[in-house]
Amino acid sequence: MTNSTQQPESIVIVGGGTAGWMCAAYLAAKWSKRYHITLIESAQIGTVGVGEGSTPFLKQFFAELGWQESDWMPACDATYKTGIEFSNWTSNERFKRYFHPFFSALDLDTAEHFFANCNQLRKGKNAAVRPEQFFSAATMAEAAVSPVSTSLGGDIDYAYHFDASKLAGCLRNFAVQQSVTHLTGNVLNVQCTNGHVTQLETDCSAPLTATLFIDCSGFRGLLMKQGLGQSLQSYQDCLFNDRAVAIPTPHNSPLQAITPQTRSEGLSCGWMWNIPLTSRIGNGYVYSSQFCSPEQAEAELRLRLNISDETP
Ligand SMILES: Cc1cc2nc3c(=O)[nH]c(=O)nc-3n(C[C@H](O)[C@H](O)[C@H](O)COP(=O)(O)OP(=O)(O)OC[C@H]3O[C@@H](n4cnc5c(N)ncnc54)[C@H](O)[C@@H]3O)c2cc1C
Repeated sequence: MTNSTQQPESIVIVGGGTAGWMCAAYLAAKWSKRYHITLIESAQIGTVGVGEGSTPFLKQFFAELGWQESDWMPACDATYKTGIEFSNWTSNERFKRYFHPFFSALDLDTAEHFFANCNQLRKGKNAAVRPEQFFSAATMAEAAVSPVSTSLGGDIDYAYHFDASKLAGCLRNFAVQQSVTHLTGNVLNVQCTNGHVTQLETDCSAPLTATLFIDCSGFRGLLMKQGLGQSLQSYQDCLFNDRAVAIPTPHNSPLQAITPQTRSEGLSCGWMWNIPLTSRIGNGYVYSSQFCSPEQAEAELRLRLNISDETP
């Protein structure tokens, strides 16, 4: 949202969740010498705080920040992720378990065969289409080995699991070190002129003006909705899952193995995730409130994890 076509001289980011701090860190890494960047976040309005599994694009993001894995992985209890195992998502016995691999240069030849076979299957012919037979990521997940290698040729693409709150903290420290101004307070009013955000009134500072405002206020969509009157388009009629319950477990509990994959398992009213970190296992059940109460969802997840009601 710019208020002119000129290059911005100052940038204000509203929100200090994953989106806000990723944005601040990236802009600071690229532009902190040229532009004054401010991030304001509310102490009263919390962040979503979950979101422990990434795609391989996050690797590129860290490279843009100039981060090495040793700079952030130990601090965020992070582990490697070579793909996602989906189980119990279909009643089709052939695909009761499916591994979605991340692609790597090692797979160039075999991937060709995989896609050719998929086309054959679409035409009604029988063909081998299990990704784990064609992509090295599946083999790495099965063997529980790291995707980082100096001996294998080519780039191996992979992603990460991490503690989202700790990662937000690392990004915040980095951004502030790069001279991002961090304000803790609430944006009370969004002022607009001619369809552009011009000023934010807050309870912690003088009104904030900027040439570029970035809305990272999460579901509130403060600038987009309150300021510019935009509304979000609901997909509720086809995306049924609208609730989640998360129950992390320690490493000595069932489903404990640290393997470089996210596990996603179909349950009665949605699906559960199982994400291994170095400090704990992240588990959660994403479900539809049309078919399941919060109590039923928690009970089903606890049963699946084989843990009692008292276990946090
Ligand atoms: C159960 C679940 C599992 C998920 N799993 C994954 C996953 O594995 N991988 C993944 O990539 N994503 C995942 N996600 C999605 C991801 O967690 C969210 O997209 C992300 O956390 C949203 O971050 P955000 O910064 O946009 O918003 P939020 O975290 O909601 O942050 C909003 C920020 O805006 C601030 N704010 C709001 N109003 C004001 C105001 N008036 N004044 C000042 N500040 C204000 C708040 O204080 C807060 O800092 C998951 C989400 C859920 C619910």
